Amino acid sequence: MKITRRNFLYSTLTSLIFFNQRQVTLAHNTSSDNLISGNTKKEKDALIIVDVQNDFCPGGTLAVKNGDTIVKEVNKIQKLFRYVILTQDWHPKDHTSFSTSNPDRKVFTTKKMPYGEQVIWPPHCVIGTNGAKFHKDLKTDNANLIIRKGFRKNIDSYSGFFENDRITSTGLNGVLKSLKIERVFVVGLALDFCVQYTALDSVRLGYKTYVIKNATLPVDIGDSVEQTINNFEKNDVKYGKLDEFI
Ligand SMILES: [Zn+2]
Repeated sequence: MKITRRNFLYSTLTSLIFFNQRQVTLAHNTSSDNLISGNTKKEKDALIIVDVQNDFCPGGTLAVKNGDTIVKEVNKIQKLFRYVILTQDWHPKDHTSFSTSNPDRKVFTTKKMPYGEQVIWPPHCVIGTNGAKFHKDLKTDNANLIIRKGFRKNIDSYSGFFENDRITSTGLNGVLKSLKIERVFVVGLALDFCVQYTALDSVRLGYKTYVIKNATLPVDIGDSVEQTINNFEKNDVKYGKLDEFI
């Protein structure tokens, strides 16, 4: 058959539709095969597992004290959800937030950026390194989606929804909206930064939002934990154990 523009477009369109159907089927099978049965698998609930990566666990460059101790609980919780999203901090090695990019500043101090105050962090979660990998015990097979964030050199991204200008989207909201999600549950590292920002954006976007207490831990800088809990209360983010919510 002579390949005309019309033929080419038609075959491309057909394979796209086929590919799409195949993807949907695969995603459906994965969910039903691997998750436990029961009425706790709510179609309108999503679990977001924030940054459970080596650099945020003991031995990492920005370790959360006992950060790895939440992994067991996170694995247990994710069996109860049909929709599981992982976020992954994912920085170029010369990222603007790194102390190595700011030799005149100390770690955990701040600098002004066009989008607001930026904390100076030790280099962490550099693209392609072991530190950026998920913790080896974190179950990742049930995840529907992995959102990578912070890969633009000149802007940091704490939230799974938006980068720190609160405008540049990661795409996560579009996925949750198209799945008709109504409730968002957040776990992971660290409570006072990426978990907090993810939860506050989630509630701002109109999702009922819950942070699961025994599946998150803080970096704990100054009064960051107290501020986080206050922000949850002020913004109607529920903070407690999972069995209080489902
Ligand atoms: Zn980071």
